[in-house]
Amino acid sequence: MDNSQWIICPVCGNKTRDRIKKDTVLKNYPLYCPKCKQETLIEAKNLHITVIKEPDALDAEPMNL
Ligand SMILES: [Zn+2]
Repeated sequence: MDNSQWIICPVCGNKTRDRIKKDTVLKNYPLYCPKCKQETLIEAKNLHITVIKEPDALDAEPMNL
């Protein structure tokens, strides 16, 4: 029994090439959609996908280690 499922692109609603399983946990995962060619940051837990909206400036170099 295969309990994995394809991740649906939150932008266009098409299937991506990524799959998650029931116990898959993703955090800050750059989901790439081959259909609309966009990358979306997502989180996934218990087959539930959450889109992360982050400010662009967040990728700037860190000030502390
Ligand atoms: Zn898409």
